Amino acid sequence: MSKTVSILGATGSVGQSTLDLIRQHPEQYEILALTANGNAAQLAALAKEFSAQVAVVADEGAYAELKRQLAGTSIEAACGPDALVAAAALGAEWTMAAIVGCAGLPPTLEALRCGKTVALANKEALVSAGALMMAEASNAGATLLPVDSEHNAIFQGLQGGRIDQVRKITLTASGGPFRTWTREQMANVTAEQAVAHPNWDMGAKISVDSATMMNKGLELIEAHYLFPVGLENIEILVHPQSVIHSMVEYRDRSTLAQLGSPDMRIPIANALAWPDRMTTNCEPLDLAEIGQLDFERPDENRFPATRIAREAIIAGGAKPAMLNAANEVAVAAFLNNMVQFLDITEIVTRLLDSYSPSEPSALADIFAIDKESRVRAEQLVEELKV
Ligand code: NDP
Repeated sequence: MSKTVSILGATGSVGQSTLDLIRQHPEQYEILALTANGNAAQLAALAKEFSAQVAVVADEGAYAELKRQLAGTSIEAACGPDALVAAAALGAEWTMAAIVGCAGLPPTLEALRCGKTVALANKEALVSAGALMMAEASNAGATLLPVDSEHNAIFQGLQGGRIDQVRKITLTASGGPFRTWTREQMANVTAEQAVAHPNWDMGAKISVDSATMMNKGLELIEAHYLFPVGLENIEILVHPQSVIHSMVEYRDRSTLAQLGSPDMRIPIANALAWPDRMTTNCEPLDLAEIGQLDFERPDENRFPATRIAREAIIAGGAKPAMLNAANEVAVAAFLNNMVQFLDITEIVTRLLDSYSPSEPSALADIFAIDKESRVRAEQLVEELKV
């Protein structure tokens, strides 16, 4: 029996890693929907290769190209945000949520509402609407499997144990490309330098997030929603080799860690085959070759993002959604050479300090806060523009 699969964000780094695993076992999976933003040519090629039922581009400007590329096939082409949600509503048994940014929230929620399995890479959706997403998953009886390598490691560390037996969760962090740099040195880094992650090959946005350590801040919020052990029991540990992907310490002081080569296909394979295990062609871990594993405490003076994220969780309400929106705007501005590297966390801080919307109680409130935060963050970009 093959498993029906949809991939939201199929053309991205996580989407392609997922398809690469499916390519290794094609008889086991049937693709319903593949989606992208504007990359119609690549999406059409993937849709043809995997005989998808539907291919969706979020960007309506890319629709004509998608139609042209899919002419003569039986693959349905669609475009726009509603079509993205409709693709998620097809009810695949397993959906990979791998759109980057809060744009992934509506289709991810829709996939959860189908009550099937959702593998979650799209951390921004959970950061912005964590409580709501967890409630939707629970109401629909959906299974939410974390794909972020750290959260997948914790998920694996919890197999055979119970969350109420956990004393501490340790999120490991590579420290990014500027781990040893001073703030003075970081002031003038280029987008190219920031995107060049020492261990992982990822999309541009998450690579910049890793460089500012906001990625770890987003992951702290993500862990807070996925693994309710209390924020004070989630710690961050810098581990430059990215071999230990995270750890769970139980109350008897046993610590379970998950290790693996820094290859996203490994946590994705865990989610794709769960509760089974699949064979992959990923590199085996060679600890003798690696020789040494190092650990450091995070330095929140040089990298304030994790402190900002912790404060946003404690403040609660709209703050995590605001943090995410401001960070998305600031990272995009940095990648477009409009602001400097250190301005990213500055923009997030200034937005959090200057805007106090009322507590969101519904999805519409989250979208309104997200939208207004983006407008205000764009203004901050204008003020700081280089
Ligand atoms: P990429 O930038 O490589 O890919 C993003 C995907 O989302 C692409 O398919 C892109 O389409 C699509 N997309 C972008 N904007 C929109 C939009 N507005 N509406 C609909 N679709 C859109 O990102 P990654 O694969 O690196 O990351 C995806 C998510 O997974 C992020 O949330 C990231 O934090 C998380 N993650 C990523 C990891 C990694 O190793 N890459 C590791 C852990 C988590 P198009 O190609 O057309 O632009």
